[in-house]
Amino acid sequence: MTIPARRVVVVGAGVAGLTVTATLAAAGLDVLCLEARDRIGGRVLSVDVAGGSLDLGATWFWAGERRVQNLAAELGVQTFEQHCAGAALFDHPAGVLRLDDNPIDVAAGRYTAGAHSLTRALASTIPAPSIQRSSPVTSITTDPTGLLVDTATGASHAAHVVLAIPPALAATTIDMRPGLPNRLLRLAQSTPVWMGAITKIVVQYPDAFWRRQGLAGTAVSLLGPLRELHDMSGPHGNPAALFGFTTDMTPDTVNMNTRVLSQLVRLYGPEAADPIRIILQDWSREAFTLPAGVEPSTNYALFGHSLYATPTFDGRLHWAATETSSVHPGRVEGAIAAALRATQAILANLNGPRQKDYTEVGRH
Ligand SMILES: Cc1cc2nc3c(=O)[nH]c(=O)nc-3n(C[C@H](O)[C@H](O)[C@H](O)COP(=O)(O)OP(=O)(O)OC[C@H]3O[C@@H](n4cnc5c(N)ncnc54)[C@H](O)[C@@H]3O)c2cc1C
Repeated sequence: MTIPARRVVVVGAGVAGLTVTATLAAAGLDVLCLEARDRIGGRVLSVDVAGGSLDLGATWFWAGERRVQNLAAELGVQTFEQHCAGAALFDHPAGVLRLDDNPIDVAAGRYTAGAHSLTRALASTIPAPSIQRSSPVTSITTDPTGLLVDTATGASHAAHVVLAIPPALAATTIDMRPGLPNRLLRLAQSTPVWMGAITKIVVQYPDAFWRRQGLAGTAVSLLGPLRELHDMSGPHGNPAALFGFTTDMTPDTVNMNTRVLSQLVRLYGPEAADPIRIILQDWSREAFTLPAGVEPSTNYALFGHSLYATPTFDGRLHWAATETSSVHPGRVEGAIAAALRATQAILANLNGPRQKDYTEVGRH
């Protein structure tokens, strides 16, 4: 069987996989994006509530991240500035210290309708049949004409495959035949999954009452359970919310909610005791983010390793998750940069002889 040279399978429909799929589809290639979950977006996940959306994964973008800003502008995705005005708090054993101003937050951009407005807008540029949900890829096999990609419900042949999933997940959950070269396999197994061991806790309130006290909503805590807190309200404070990160998760959600509220009352006063809702998003339990049973690695020096810029399996297998980017790895910006590097490799291959490796275009 001959595989059409323009047939590409993309594994994963997070920011990276969607960017690859949209870019290659726009260039006229025959692209199929296989997504394990029943939703797109990956680590971009928002829930809609009255008056707006709350982000349970990525929230911000920062100055200098031109790819994500250009993408949002091209797609017509509305953005606004993160609320930073007011005093920040330092929560330590001797008490709560109110800092002059807010030395903790840096200026950042947010997505008005939640971070998922970016991934939804991106997906809307892709012909619907090109994204297949609930289709975890289980194996990738080389054959003389290309690569065979298996899911529980079927197999797809492709000239090129793009792994737009965290490398550690690819190395531990996808059966590669033959196996990946040893160095690459070891690298992928040890590359951390950015924010993969984090729980994000979002607490929604009827209004942003902390702003009336001159507080930014930002805090750093030595006591926990939330180690770092920020204002997560939408534009003009609606919907009103605070969020924090913790790695200190117990299986007992009720107990965690009580501990979080007690911390919020300590920091922001009695009004913090009456939220509309508390949402816990434990990314460490997401089988399609962090590989089960794998000790989370923290060797971030492996992010953007040069081996990820070298297509393997005779130049047919490409890497595109944020962890593989040499610029802004871990960020949405890094996911877009890695995706554009992979698409560049595939398009260059169609139009001429293969290069040995590719790096992200523009080093910042
Ligand atoms: C709590 C949290 C807060 C964050 N905050 C920010 C922030 O403020 N700003 C920022 O820039 N970044 C932030 N990030 C990071 C940002 O979310 C990621 O950089 C980005 O979303 C990664 O995109 P990706 O496409 O590389 O990977 P992912 O989003 O992980 O996408 C991978 C996709 O592949 C799918 N998949 C996995 N295995 C398979 C399989 N076998 N077959 C098929 N599909 C598969 C997954 O379901 C997923 O949809 C945050 C992340 C978290 C978790």
